[in-house]
Amino acid sequence: MPLLILLVIGLLFVGQKWFSSPSVQPLPYSAFKAALRQGQIQKIQIGKARIRGTHLIPGEQAPDRLPDDAGLKRPGRFVTIRVDDPGLVHELEALQVPYTGQREGGWFTTLLGWLLPVILMVGLWSLMARRMGGAARGLTNFGKSRARIYAEQETGVSFADVAGVDEAKAELLEIIDFLRQPQKYTALGGRIPKGVLLVGPPGTGKTLLARAVAGEACVPFFSLSGSDFVEMFVGVGAARVRDLFKQAQDRAPAIVFIDELDAVGKARGINPMQPNDEREQTLNQLLAEMDGFDPRKGVIVLAATNRPEILDPALLRAGRFDRQVVVDRPDLQGRLHILQLHAKAIRLTSEIDLNAIAARTPGMVGSDLANVINEAALLAARYGKAAVTMDELDEAIDRILAGPQKKSRVMAPKEKQRVAYHEAGHALVAEMLPTADPVRKVTIIPHGVAALGYTQQLPAQDRYLYTQEELLDRITVLLGGRAAEALIFQDISTGAQDDLQKASDLARRMVTALGMSEQLGPYTIEHEPQSMFLPHRTRAPQTYSEATAQAIDREAQGIVEHMARRAHRLLEASQGTLETLAQYLLVHEVIDQSTLALLLAGLCGHGHIPSDLVVRRFNAAPIT
Ligand code: ADP
Ligand code: MG
Ligand code: ZN
Repeated sequence: MPLLILLVIGLLFVGQKWFSSPSVQPLPYSAFKAALRQGQIQKIQIGKARIRGTHLIPGEQAPDRLPDDAGLKRPGRFVTIRVDDPGLVHELEALQVPYTGQREGGWFTTLLGWLLPVILMVGLWSLMARRMGGAARGLTNFGKSRARIYAEQETGVSFADVAGVDEAKAELLEIIDFLRQPQKYTALGGRIPKGVLLVGPPGTGKTLLARAVAGEACVPFFSLSGSDFVEMFVGVGAARVRDLFKQAQDRAPAIVFIDELDAVGKARGINPMQPNDEREQTLNQLLAEMDGFDPRKGVIVLAATNRPEILDPALLRAGRFDRQVVVDRPDLQGRLHILQLHAKAIRLTSEIDLNAIAARTPGMVGSDLANVINEAALLAARYGKAAVTMDELDEAIDRILAGPQKKSRVMAPKEKQRVAYHEAGHALVAEMLPTADPVRKVTIIPHGVAALGYTQQLPAQDRYLYTQEELLDRITVLLGGRAAEALIFQDISTGAQDDLQKASDLARRMVTALGMSEQLGPYTIEHEPQSMFLPHRTRAPQTYSEATAQAIDREAQGIVEHMARRAHRLLEASQGTLETLAQYLLVHEVIDQSTLALLLAGLCGHGHIPSDLVVRRFNAAPIT
């Protein structure tokens, strides 16, 4: 490319030289007229913009000032810029100077004038294309789908690679069976589902499952991510959809997989201020294709999303993604299976108890667990161990739960003390309250960006329901850290912000959504979009009166205030224990479950709560 540019520049240079040969003398028009009148002009060619000709050049004169007397020497060529001078022709005739008209610019100039910009443009374009890499190449073949085609052996994933989501697998078995032998179903006239939507939180293995389905069914797998459709040019996404379905139908039976469907499938017109024609066109095309293809041919569309609630309802209608498979967070057994699966890839010491790891990781999804195993392997390598031990697995969990430990961050002794009491407060309140989940670990080693310490509680088994008493206890535990600070230092700190936020949110939900306030009763107010998975905070327009709003505030505030008092009273009643825990933390930085049991067992007076602090339901009777 630079060669071409050099060539062009060279050409230009030569051309320039050619046309402006030095023997041609530029003359001002006035000088030309003067020379004409003096009979020094021999002949001229009149062009549109220039007049060229030959004249008789006087001796050593400056070229723009012709001398009065004609000490003529030799003829020379001149050029002058043409001025609007209607009398010129008359003068020429009168003086009998031969003149001709002339078309400006020879063929060469014309060609160059045309060609040069074109060459330059093309050069620049391809230069830019190279810079931008694939992006610009997309321009030249846009519309062609970038769907990657995997034949069955290429997905290389089978159901054995997906663990802990047995229900989803069971539902997908039917799809696999259909893809293997479509005639078995169609012979009976049954309608095969066209679209199956995998719904679940991020990292639960939806993408993995889709690939496993293709692998199990031994069919080609066409996959595109929702964001691939949404391109910079209107119409490209739609063209891709068309192309994708065409390819799939040509190779049926096949699976078309659209990952992150929400990127294209967002409800249309959700934001009137920001119309997205491209996305809408793509979505419309997708709907049209789904209606258009014949399911008996054996193409099944799988899609995955973690935000089903924002999908356009049209996508979920019969004949489209009418079947939904929930890929939920794994339970204890599921977590164990996922851990076992991923642990196969690394070297573990024999004393590893994956059951304990599974028990420590409620709420984690498949990708988190895969991450735990991988992180543990990396840690073991860093510590120069021959195999991964329980220590690395524990640290890996801590890292993933709360960000990597920051042993290097030095905390001022005063801060450390405060954090110790804060965490001891959480832990003690949790241990005192009958329904709170048992404390698994308390640490004042800073984790991640914000957490200065944390108290991990662990449910004995996975929880699906909470009673009002349990929620109130939970709020009390959240407020325990702040209560301890207030009790010991007569002062509170910014460290409790996150706790307060969580406690307030929970209290508010109890009032507005869970029907757990006396004043508002079972009437629920919050109509949140049913996000099963993400804390999707779109405040619905307020559909209740100002009086109700005030009541909500009052009630929620009441709950938090009461539980704060309660935490304070609980800690007051066991201040000695609080001191013990905090001092232990200051020395050892960590208390694990068994140590905590020992510490608490060695202390008398622990274990009974003042009867007025047992709160089963919230009512306005104040705790004093
Ligand atoms: P999603 O698409 O639901 O966000 P992925 O399928 O992309 O999740 O999962 C990411 C990775 O996490 C997978 O490649 C796999 O290593 C691991 N993983 C997730 N879920 C599981 C599972 N159920 N069994 C085994 N591995 C899993
Ligand atoms: Mg995915
Ligand atoms: Zn706290």
